[in-house]
Amino acid sequence: MIKFENVSKRYPDGTVAVDSLELEIQQGEFFVIVGPSGCGKTTTLKLINRLIPLSDGTILINGRKISEYDIHELRWNIGYVLQQIALFPHMTIEENIAIVPEMKRWGRGKVKTRIHELMNMVGLDYETYANRKPSELSGGQQQRVGVIRALAADPEIVLMDEPFSALDPISREKLQDDMLDFKENLKKTTVFVTHDMNEALKLADRICIMKNGKIVQIGTPHELVTNP
Ligand code: ADP
Ligand code: ADP
Repeated sequence: MIKFENVSKRYPDGTVAVDSLELEIQQGEFFVIVGPSGCGKTTTLKLINRLIPLSDGTILINGRKISEYDIHELRWNIGYVLQQIALFPHMTIEENIAIVPEMKRWGRGKVKTRIHELMNMVGLDYETYANRKPSELSGGQQQRVGVIRALAADPEIVLMDEPFSALDPISREKLQDDMLDFKENLKKTTVFVTHDMNEALKLADRICIMKNGKIVQIGTPHELVTNP
């Protein structure tokens, strides 16, 4: 599904952020990349949706090089959740979530049904919250909206960059539980980045531990715990 073949990323200043990465992420897999700050996690995500160009190697999605995709086609199929809550402050919650489905020219009815369904899935009552502005929601609620916005247009792949790290421990735990529901119900191919090993162990189908741009260990949570 997502395949890295000998992928490296060198930034213009010479920093090698990702070093000869070989990786295969399966369809429907919840794949977690864990490692300390600066090990290359965010860079790895940004390479997948071509936010930054790679320096060496090849990334394939469904057997096709990402460089061969039309950039919009590529990004429309990849939902992206950022660490910082990144909702548009002047737009309502519903408008924020509707952005990508509307770009894809989904009809109004379909968009509305989808938003209803997703908001309810994460415990945000549609009637109460759809017309509010982001500033009228708590941090945890805003990040929930960030997550469902990335899922709204039913992308094939979801990339999540430490989506819960800015939240208080209670909200974080609730959102992790939501994630487990997503995982069960949606079975989306997900690449989730975190520096928190407990979060990785809780959520992952498979965990990849990165250090200095390289993979140092890869396996299921069970494998990592029983064979550290
Ligand atoms: P992580 O997400 O694991 O914290 P990053 O992928 O952000 O790691 O960064 C990996 C390495 O690349 C770090 O050494 C970081 O300082 C460096 N880096 C990240 N972005 C840039 C950039 N735009 N220019 C130069 N170096 C960068
Ligand atoms: P352009 O760069 O051509 O102006 P846009 O920025 O409007 O295109 O974005 C096109 C697609 O890329 C949209 O689906 C949008 O959601 C997605 N996109 C925009 N910014 C990001 C980002 N930082 N990370 C991931 N996807 C993004």
